[in-house]
Amino acid sequence: MKPFSYRCPNPKCRVVLSIPESMRGQSARCGSCSQEFMVPFVVSRTLRKDEPQSPPMRKAS
Ligand SMILES: [Zn+2]
Repeated sequence: MKPFSYRCPNPKCRVVLSIPESMRGQSARCGSCSQEFMVPFVVSRTLRKDEPQSPPMRKAS
């Protein structure tokens, strides 16, 4: 599973964290400022809205 980028909610930090998909809906802690926060289930993916969630299967020959 690919981690997704999430910006630390602490306004004094705002570091971009890589969070594994499995952390969704759970609390996580920023490694930079130690701020605890809740990882949202849905992260806006407007930039890649039109892309399929998973690439089509292709058989290797
Ligand atoms: Zn932080």
